[in-house]
Amino acid sequence: MIIILKQGSNKSEIAKLEENLRANGLKTNLIEGVEKSIIGLIGDTSKIDLDSLYAQDCIDSVQRIQETYKNPNRKMHPEDTVIEAGNVKIGGGSLQIIAGPCSVESEEQIMSTARAVKEAGATMLRGGAFKPRTSPYAFQGLRGEGLKLLLKARAETGLPIVTEIMSADDLPLFEDIDVIQVGARNMQNFELLKELGKTNKPILLKRGLANTIEELLMSAEYIMSGGNKNVILCERGIRTFETMTRNTLDISAVPLLKQKSHLPICVDPSHAAGVISLIEPLSLSSIIAGADALEIEVHCDPKKALSDGGQQLKPEVFAEIMKKIKSLCGYLGRDLG
Ligand code: PEP
Ligand code: MN
Repeated sequence: MIIILKQGSNKSEIAKLEENLRANGLKTNLIEGVEKSIIGLIGDTSKIDLDSLYAQDCIDSVQRIQETYKNPNRKMHPEDTVIEAGNVKIGGGSLQIIAGPCSVESEEQIMSTARAVKEAGATMLRGGAFKPRTSPYAFQGLRGEGLKLLLKARAETGLPIVTEIMSADDLPLFEDIDVIQVGARNMQNFELLKELGKTNKPILLKRGLANTIEELLMSAEYIMSGGNKNVILCERGIRTFETMTRNTLDISAVPLLKQKSHLPICVDPSHAAGVISLIEPLSLSSIIAGADALEIEVHCDPKKALSDGGQQLKPEVFAEIMKKIKSLCGYLGRDLG
């Protein structure tokens, strides 16, 4: 339920109202916007007496939220959420380009790729240390050692780090990481989501291979209901009957999520396409659709990559795409970084 407050209402009256609502076992979330101020209510609102609410001077109107997802719902928070990660802001108009290898493989590989993506204009560095692989015999990642290498790359380039977690047991290792990624395969690992909800780390939550937009929003709800409001939603393609691409990028998810939610939206064209030649058109169309960030796989020597070699861009190809992204940003009046 949301309470829309009258413009210019008395602050102490609003504070008293919040106190009364909390005394009734509800969580309140006051959002003071430029256009309007609201109080979002979470909990059992069925016993609230609407007549006594309307009797209060500061209340303009009351709306019930029909959707099952409350915290990520734009009705609860009309303005875009902006999330700070290291020295960058995700959401609110700027565009972040998260680039780097699928997996961290060695010091030389991550350092040279980090330098190259920075040089081309990337604003954040990605790299998997804990890798969810279809086969248990495939490269599983350098794990803790990989995280240390990512921090080394950040120390040199200044790029904030995005990297995937697979188990809540590893959380202590992620203390210095800027953005924790929850991969598609873990989107509904509810125990992991609950643990991430207890932290205040920015979480990049990827849509599951066969999950609906509503299920993605419900997974965000799991994290946010625990107190962590720093969630970035990521569209990375879903499984369809199409076989020419690895997945099908659901481009309509981007404007739809923007309408339904206040959270920033990232698009991963690399895992969506699985094909190098599609990364540029999918990146540009995602920006036009309203993405706040892109996550793109880049490897200094893709032929030798230990995972996803077929979809990782060479740094020089990434640099060419970055030129087009920059000119599109200029055209759209959006800041990169
Ligand atoms: C990744 O980004 O490294 C990854 C495994 O992606 P996804 O979870 O979207 O498959
Ligand atoms: Mn990958």
